[in-house]
Amino acid sequence: MTQEEKSCIFCKIVAGKLPSYTVYEDNQVVAFLDIKPINPGHTLIIPKEHAPNLAELDPEIGGKIFKVGVKISAALRRSGLRCDGVNLWLADGKVAGQEVLHVHLHIVPRFRGDGFRIQVGPEYGRSPTGSELATNAASISQALKSV
Ligand code: AMP
Ligand code: ZN
Repeated sequence: MTQEEKSCIFCKIVAGKLPSYTVYEDNQVVAFLDIKPINPGHTLIIPKEHAPNLAELDPEIGGKIFKVGVKISAALRRSGLRCDGVNLWLADGKVAGQEVLHVHLHIVPRFRGDGFRIQVGPEYGRSPTGSELATNAASISQALKSV
């Protein structure tokens, strides 16, 4: 185990060294309640194997995390907790709001008037030109070849 893993709170949860309110577990992932929920039932899904960010996560495990997220979203809607909708949220990188550097997918139950909102920057709403979109799409397509 690396020093990074030793000091990682989510690795400690996987190892059973920190308590968690677990809702699902298998050999690849574990899902547990967020201790500072946006709304009751707010769940986090993590890979059991430490990966600090998406670039270092096995895409197969990423798929598994999303698959479990789909099921937990459905479960929340029939759990009896207030859940008329769901937001899936993943902060990848500190600049994106990631505080715990072990990949985790937030499953946030939503209901009307819950007060949760995402704030966008002043550039939001601007429609980029077709050529800007084409250039950006080409850059991403090209980069995908080396991922
Ligand atoms: P993020 O900002 O996306 O990195 O979110 C980290 C989340 O982990 C926050 O919503 C925290 O409330 C949550 N969190 C931190 N420590 C624990 C813990 N020991 N058990 C459950 N959730 C935690
Ligand atoms: Zn970790």
